[in-house]
Amino acid sequence: MRSFTYVAQPARVVFGAGAVAKLAAEVERLGAKRALVLSTPGRSADVQRLARALGERYAGLYDKAAMHVPMEIAVEARHVAAACSADCCVAVGGGSTIGLGKAIALTSGLPVLAVPTTYSGSEMTSAQGFVEGGVKRVQLDPKMLPRTVIYDPALTLGLPVAVSAASGMNAIAHCAEALYARGTNPIIQLMAEEGARALAASLPAIVKNPKDIEARSDALYGAWLAGTALGAGGMALHHKLCHTLGGTWNLPHAETHAIVLPHALAYNRDAAPEAMARLARALGVSDAPAGVYDLEKRLGLKMRLADLDFPERDLEKAAKLATESPYPNPAPVTYDGVLALLRGAYAGAPVI
Ligand code: NAD
Repeated sequence: MRSFTYVAQPARVVFGAGAVAKLAAEVERLGAKRALVLSTPGRSADVQRLARALGERYAGLYDKAAMHVPMEIAVEARHVAAACSADCCVAVGGGSTIGLGKAIALTSGLPVLAVPTTYSGSEMTSAQGFVEGGVKRVQLDPKMLPRTVIYDPALTLGLPVAVSAASGMNAIAHCAEALYARGTNPIIQLMAEEGARALAASLPAIVKNPKDIEARSDALYGAWLAGTALGAGGMALHHKLCHTLGGTWNLPHAETHAIVLPHALAYNRDAAPEAMARLARALGVSDAPAGVYDLEKRLGLKMRLADLDFPERDLEKAAKLATESPYPNPAPVTYDGVLALLRGAYAGAPVI
């Protein structure tokens, strides 16, 4: 018999090609008068162009967002927000930029308006990892959940194919784990399955033609569902491994997710048969872990931790770190089991 708790996340979502034209109106709707705009260094010029639409509500730009939100950057951004008397943050970018907005919100309570331009899904969660002293720790606080999210697929047309494919697999990983994580429930399972379906169908089309606005729209829709599923359903072993590898070895977030996912799913295959069946149905395959592996090969993704220059001698340290304080997981988390999983991911061993 079913037994679950469901908490809806209170975010306002504005979705559609051209939706970013509503940015100023949405900032006004939050009651904000001074918006600090956030971006990564590489996206600074484009983001500044968008920010012009804010007119008098533009308080400044902080463009040093970085992967895994290093604590020293979070601290500097908080000072900048205070110095320009910001009463809201507008984060335009991927999970790194949105994570920086969350870092500011955590200590100041400022509302965040997110304009996601990757498929990380971070905009739909009230969790964020921060790296300090070489370790990534995840914090949970409802203050970090963006209050408004504008999804505009037109802003993703220039997202490079390799980043798109990896980021899309990061989103599929959210869907996959939300199907079997401890916080899963029937509503989240609907979202997770539909999210995985939309992403698995659109990512090959994006790789073929990155300017395909229909496919871009479907992928962003899938990313929204994936982020929602992650935020409400939770995570398990796969996310723990990626947080460990990303936080301690500074591996690229989305690519690490893509490489680890088929192996983590194979680890959980027998312990979560219903989740695997739903994911397989979403992908249109008979076996979820093998289907994910095949999809990633078709997308031309890197398949080996060795491809990310992860040092083979550190596999044991990673297994130790990941099993010291594991997230709840359907299959028992053992050091030997996780080390074997990581060895498979290091070598890119086929998952069949
Ligand atoms: P990212 O934000 O670092 O972006 C990757 C690269 O793509 C960056 O160089 C960025 O400038 C560039 N980019 C982004 N959008 C672009 C566009 N439209 N066109 C061209 N280039 C563009 O990477 P990510 O994978 O989106 O995010 C990773 C971070 O997000 C990690 O720190 C991870 O921990 C965090 N994250 C958090 C959650 C959560 O729920 N808290 C969920 C997923 C990811």
